[in-house]
Amino acid sequence: MATTERDLNLIKKAEFLISNTDPTRCPEEIFPEYAFVGRSNVGKSSLINAFTNRKDLAKTSSTPGKTQTINHFMIDDAWYLVDLPGYGYAKAPKSKILDWDNFIESYLKTRKNLVAVFVLLDIRLEVQKNDLNFMNWLGQHHIPFAMVFTKLDKISSSQFNRNKTAYQKKMLEYWDELPPVFATSAEHFQGLKELHQYILYNNQVYQEFLKK
Ligand code: GDP
Repeated sequence: MATTERDLNLIKKAEFLISNTDPTRCPEEIFPEYAFVGRSNVGKSSLINAFTNRKDLAKTSSTPGKTQTINHFMIDDAWYLVDLPGYGYAKAPKSKILDWDNFIESYLKTRKNLVAVFVLLDIRLEVQKNDLNFMNWLGQHHIPFAMVFTKLDKISSSQFNRNKTAYQKKMLEYWDELPPVFATSAEHFQGLKELHQYILYNNQVYQEFLKK
């Protein structure tokens, strides 16, 4: 049976802090930070809203005039959730990893408190070249990331296993080791507890690291 919203209630407090296109204007790097990113329509806004138990903390794709900014949220007075712009389908110039503005690359490369990037992947789709390029780029820059599959409710468990295996096989062509993998549904609130545990664990590790 699908978990209900009320059963979960993982995050007690979610506050919008700032949107900007200048990484130097992001909030002070005093809390651990996790960035959500993926191709447009992957289900990023839905996942953030389900995760934080808010209807419209992150604006969905259909919002007119949705701006392409780095959006910071303070979660439970303990960590930052960052909503990055979705990357598109347009052909990116060779000099860029994706058809993104340079400020996002700069944010990812310079943000000291960035603990992990959650790369959102639609579980219904085959491995997409720009997702793979992006993950490889993160690896090249030593930016930790996890794969977060979305829309789990849209496929059967056998399809899920097939698609997940295909993904992992593809990743192992480039990587010796696989990143953490989460399977989520914003619709059925699946996988959110696991994601939350991962964040809490890493927040602890981060605090220990700061003490040293
Ligand atoms: P974004 O562009 O990545 O922010 O994507 P949205 O969150 O706006 O979602 C894109 C579309 O996918 C919308 O029509 C959502 O209702 C749908 N969607 C997102 N997450 C899920 C999910 O977990 N299950 C189902 N069935 N649909 C979803």
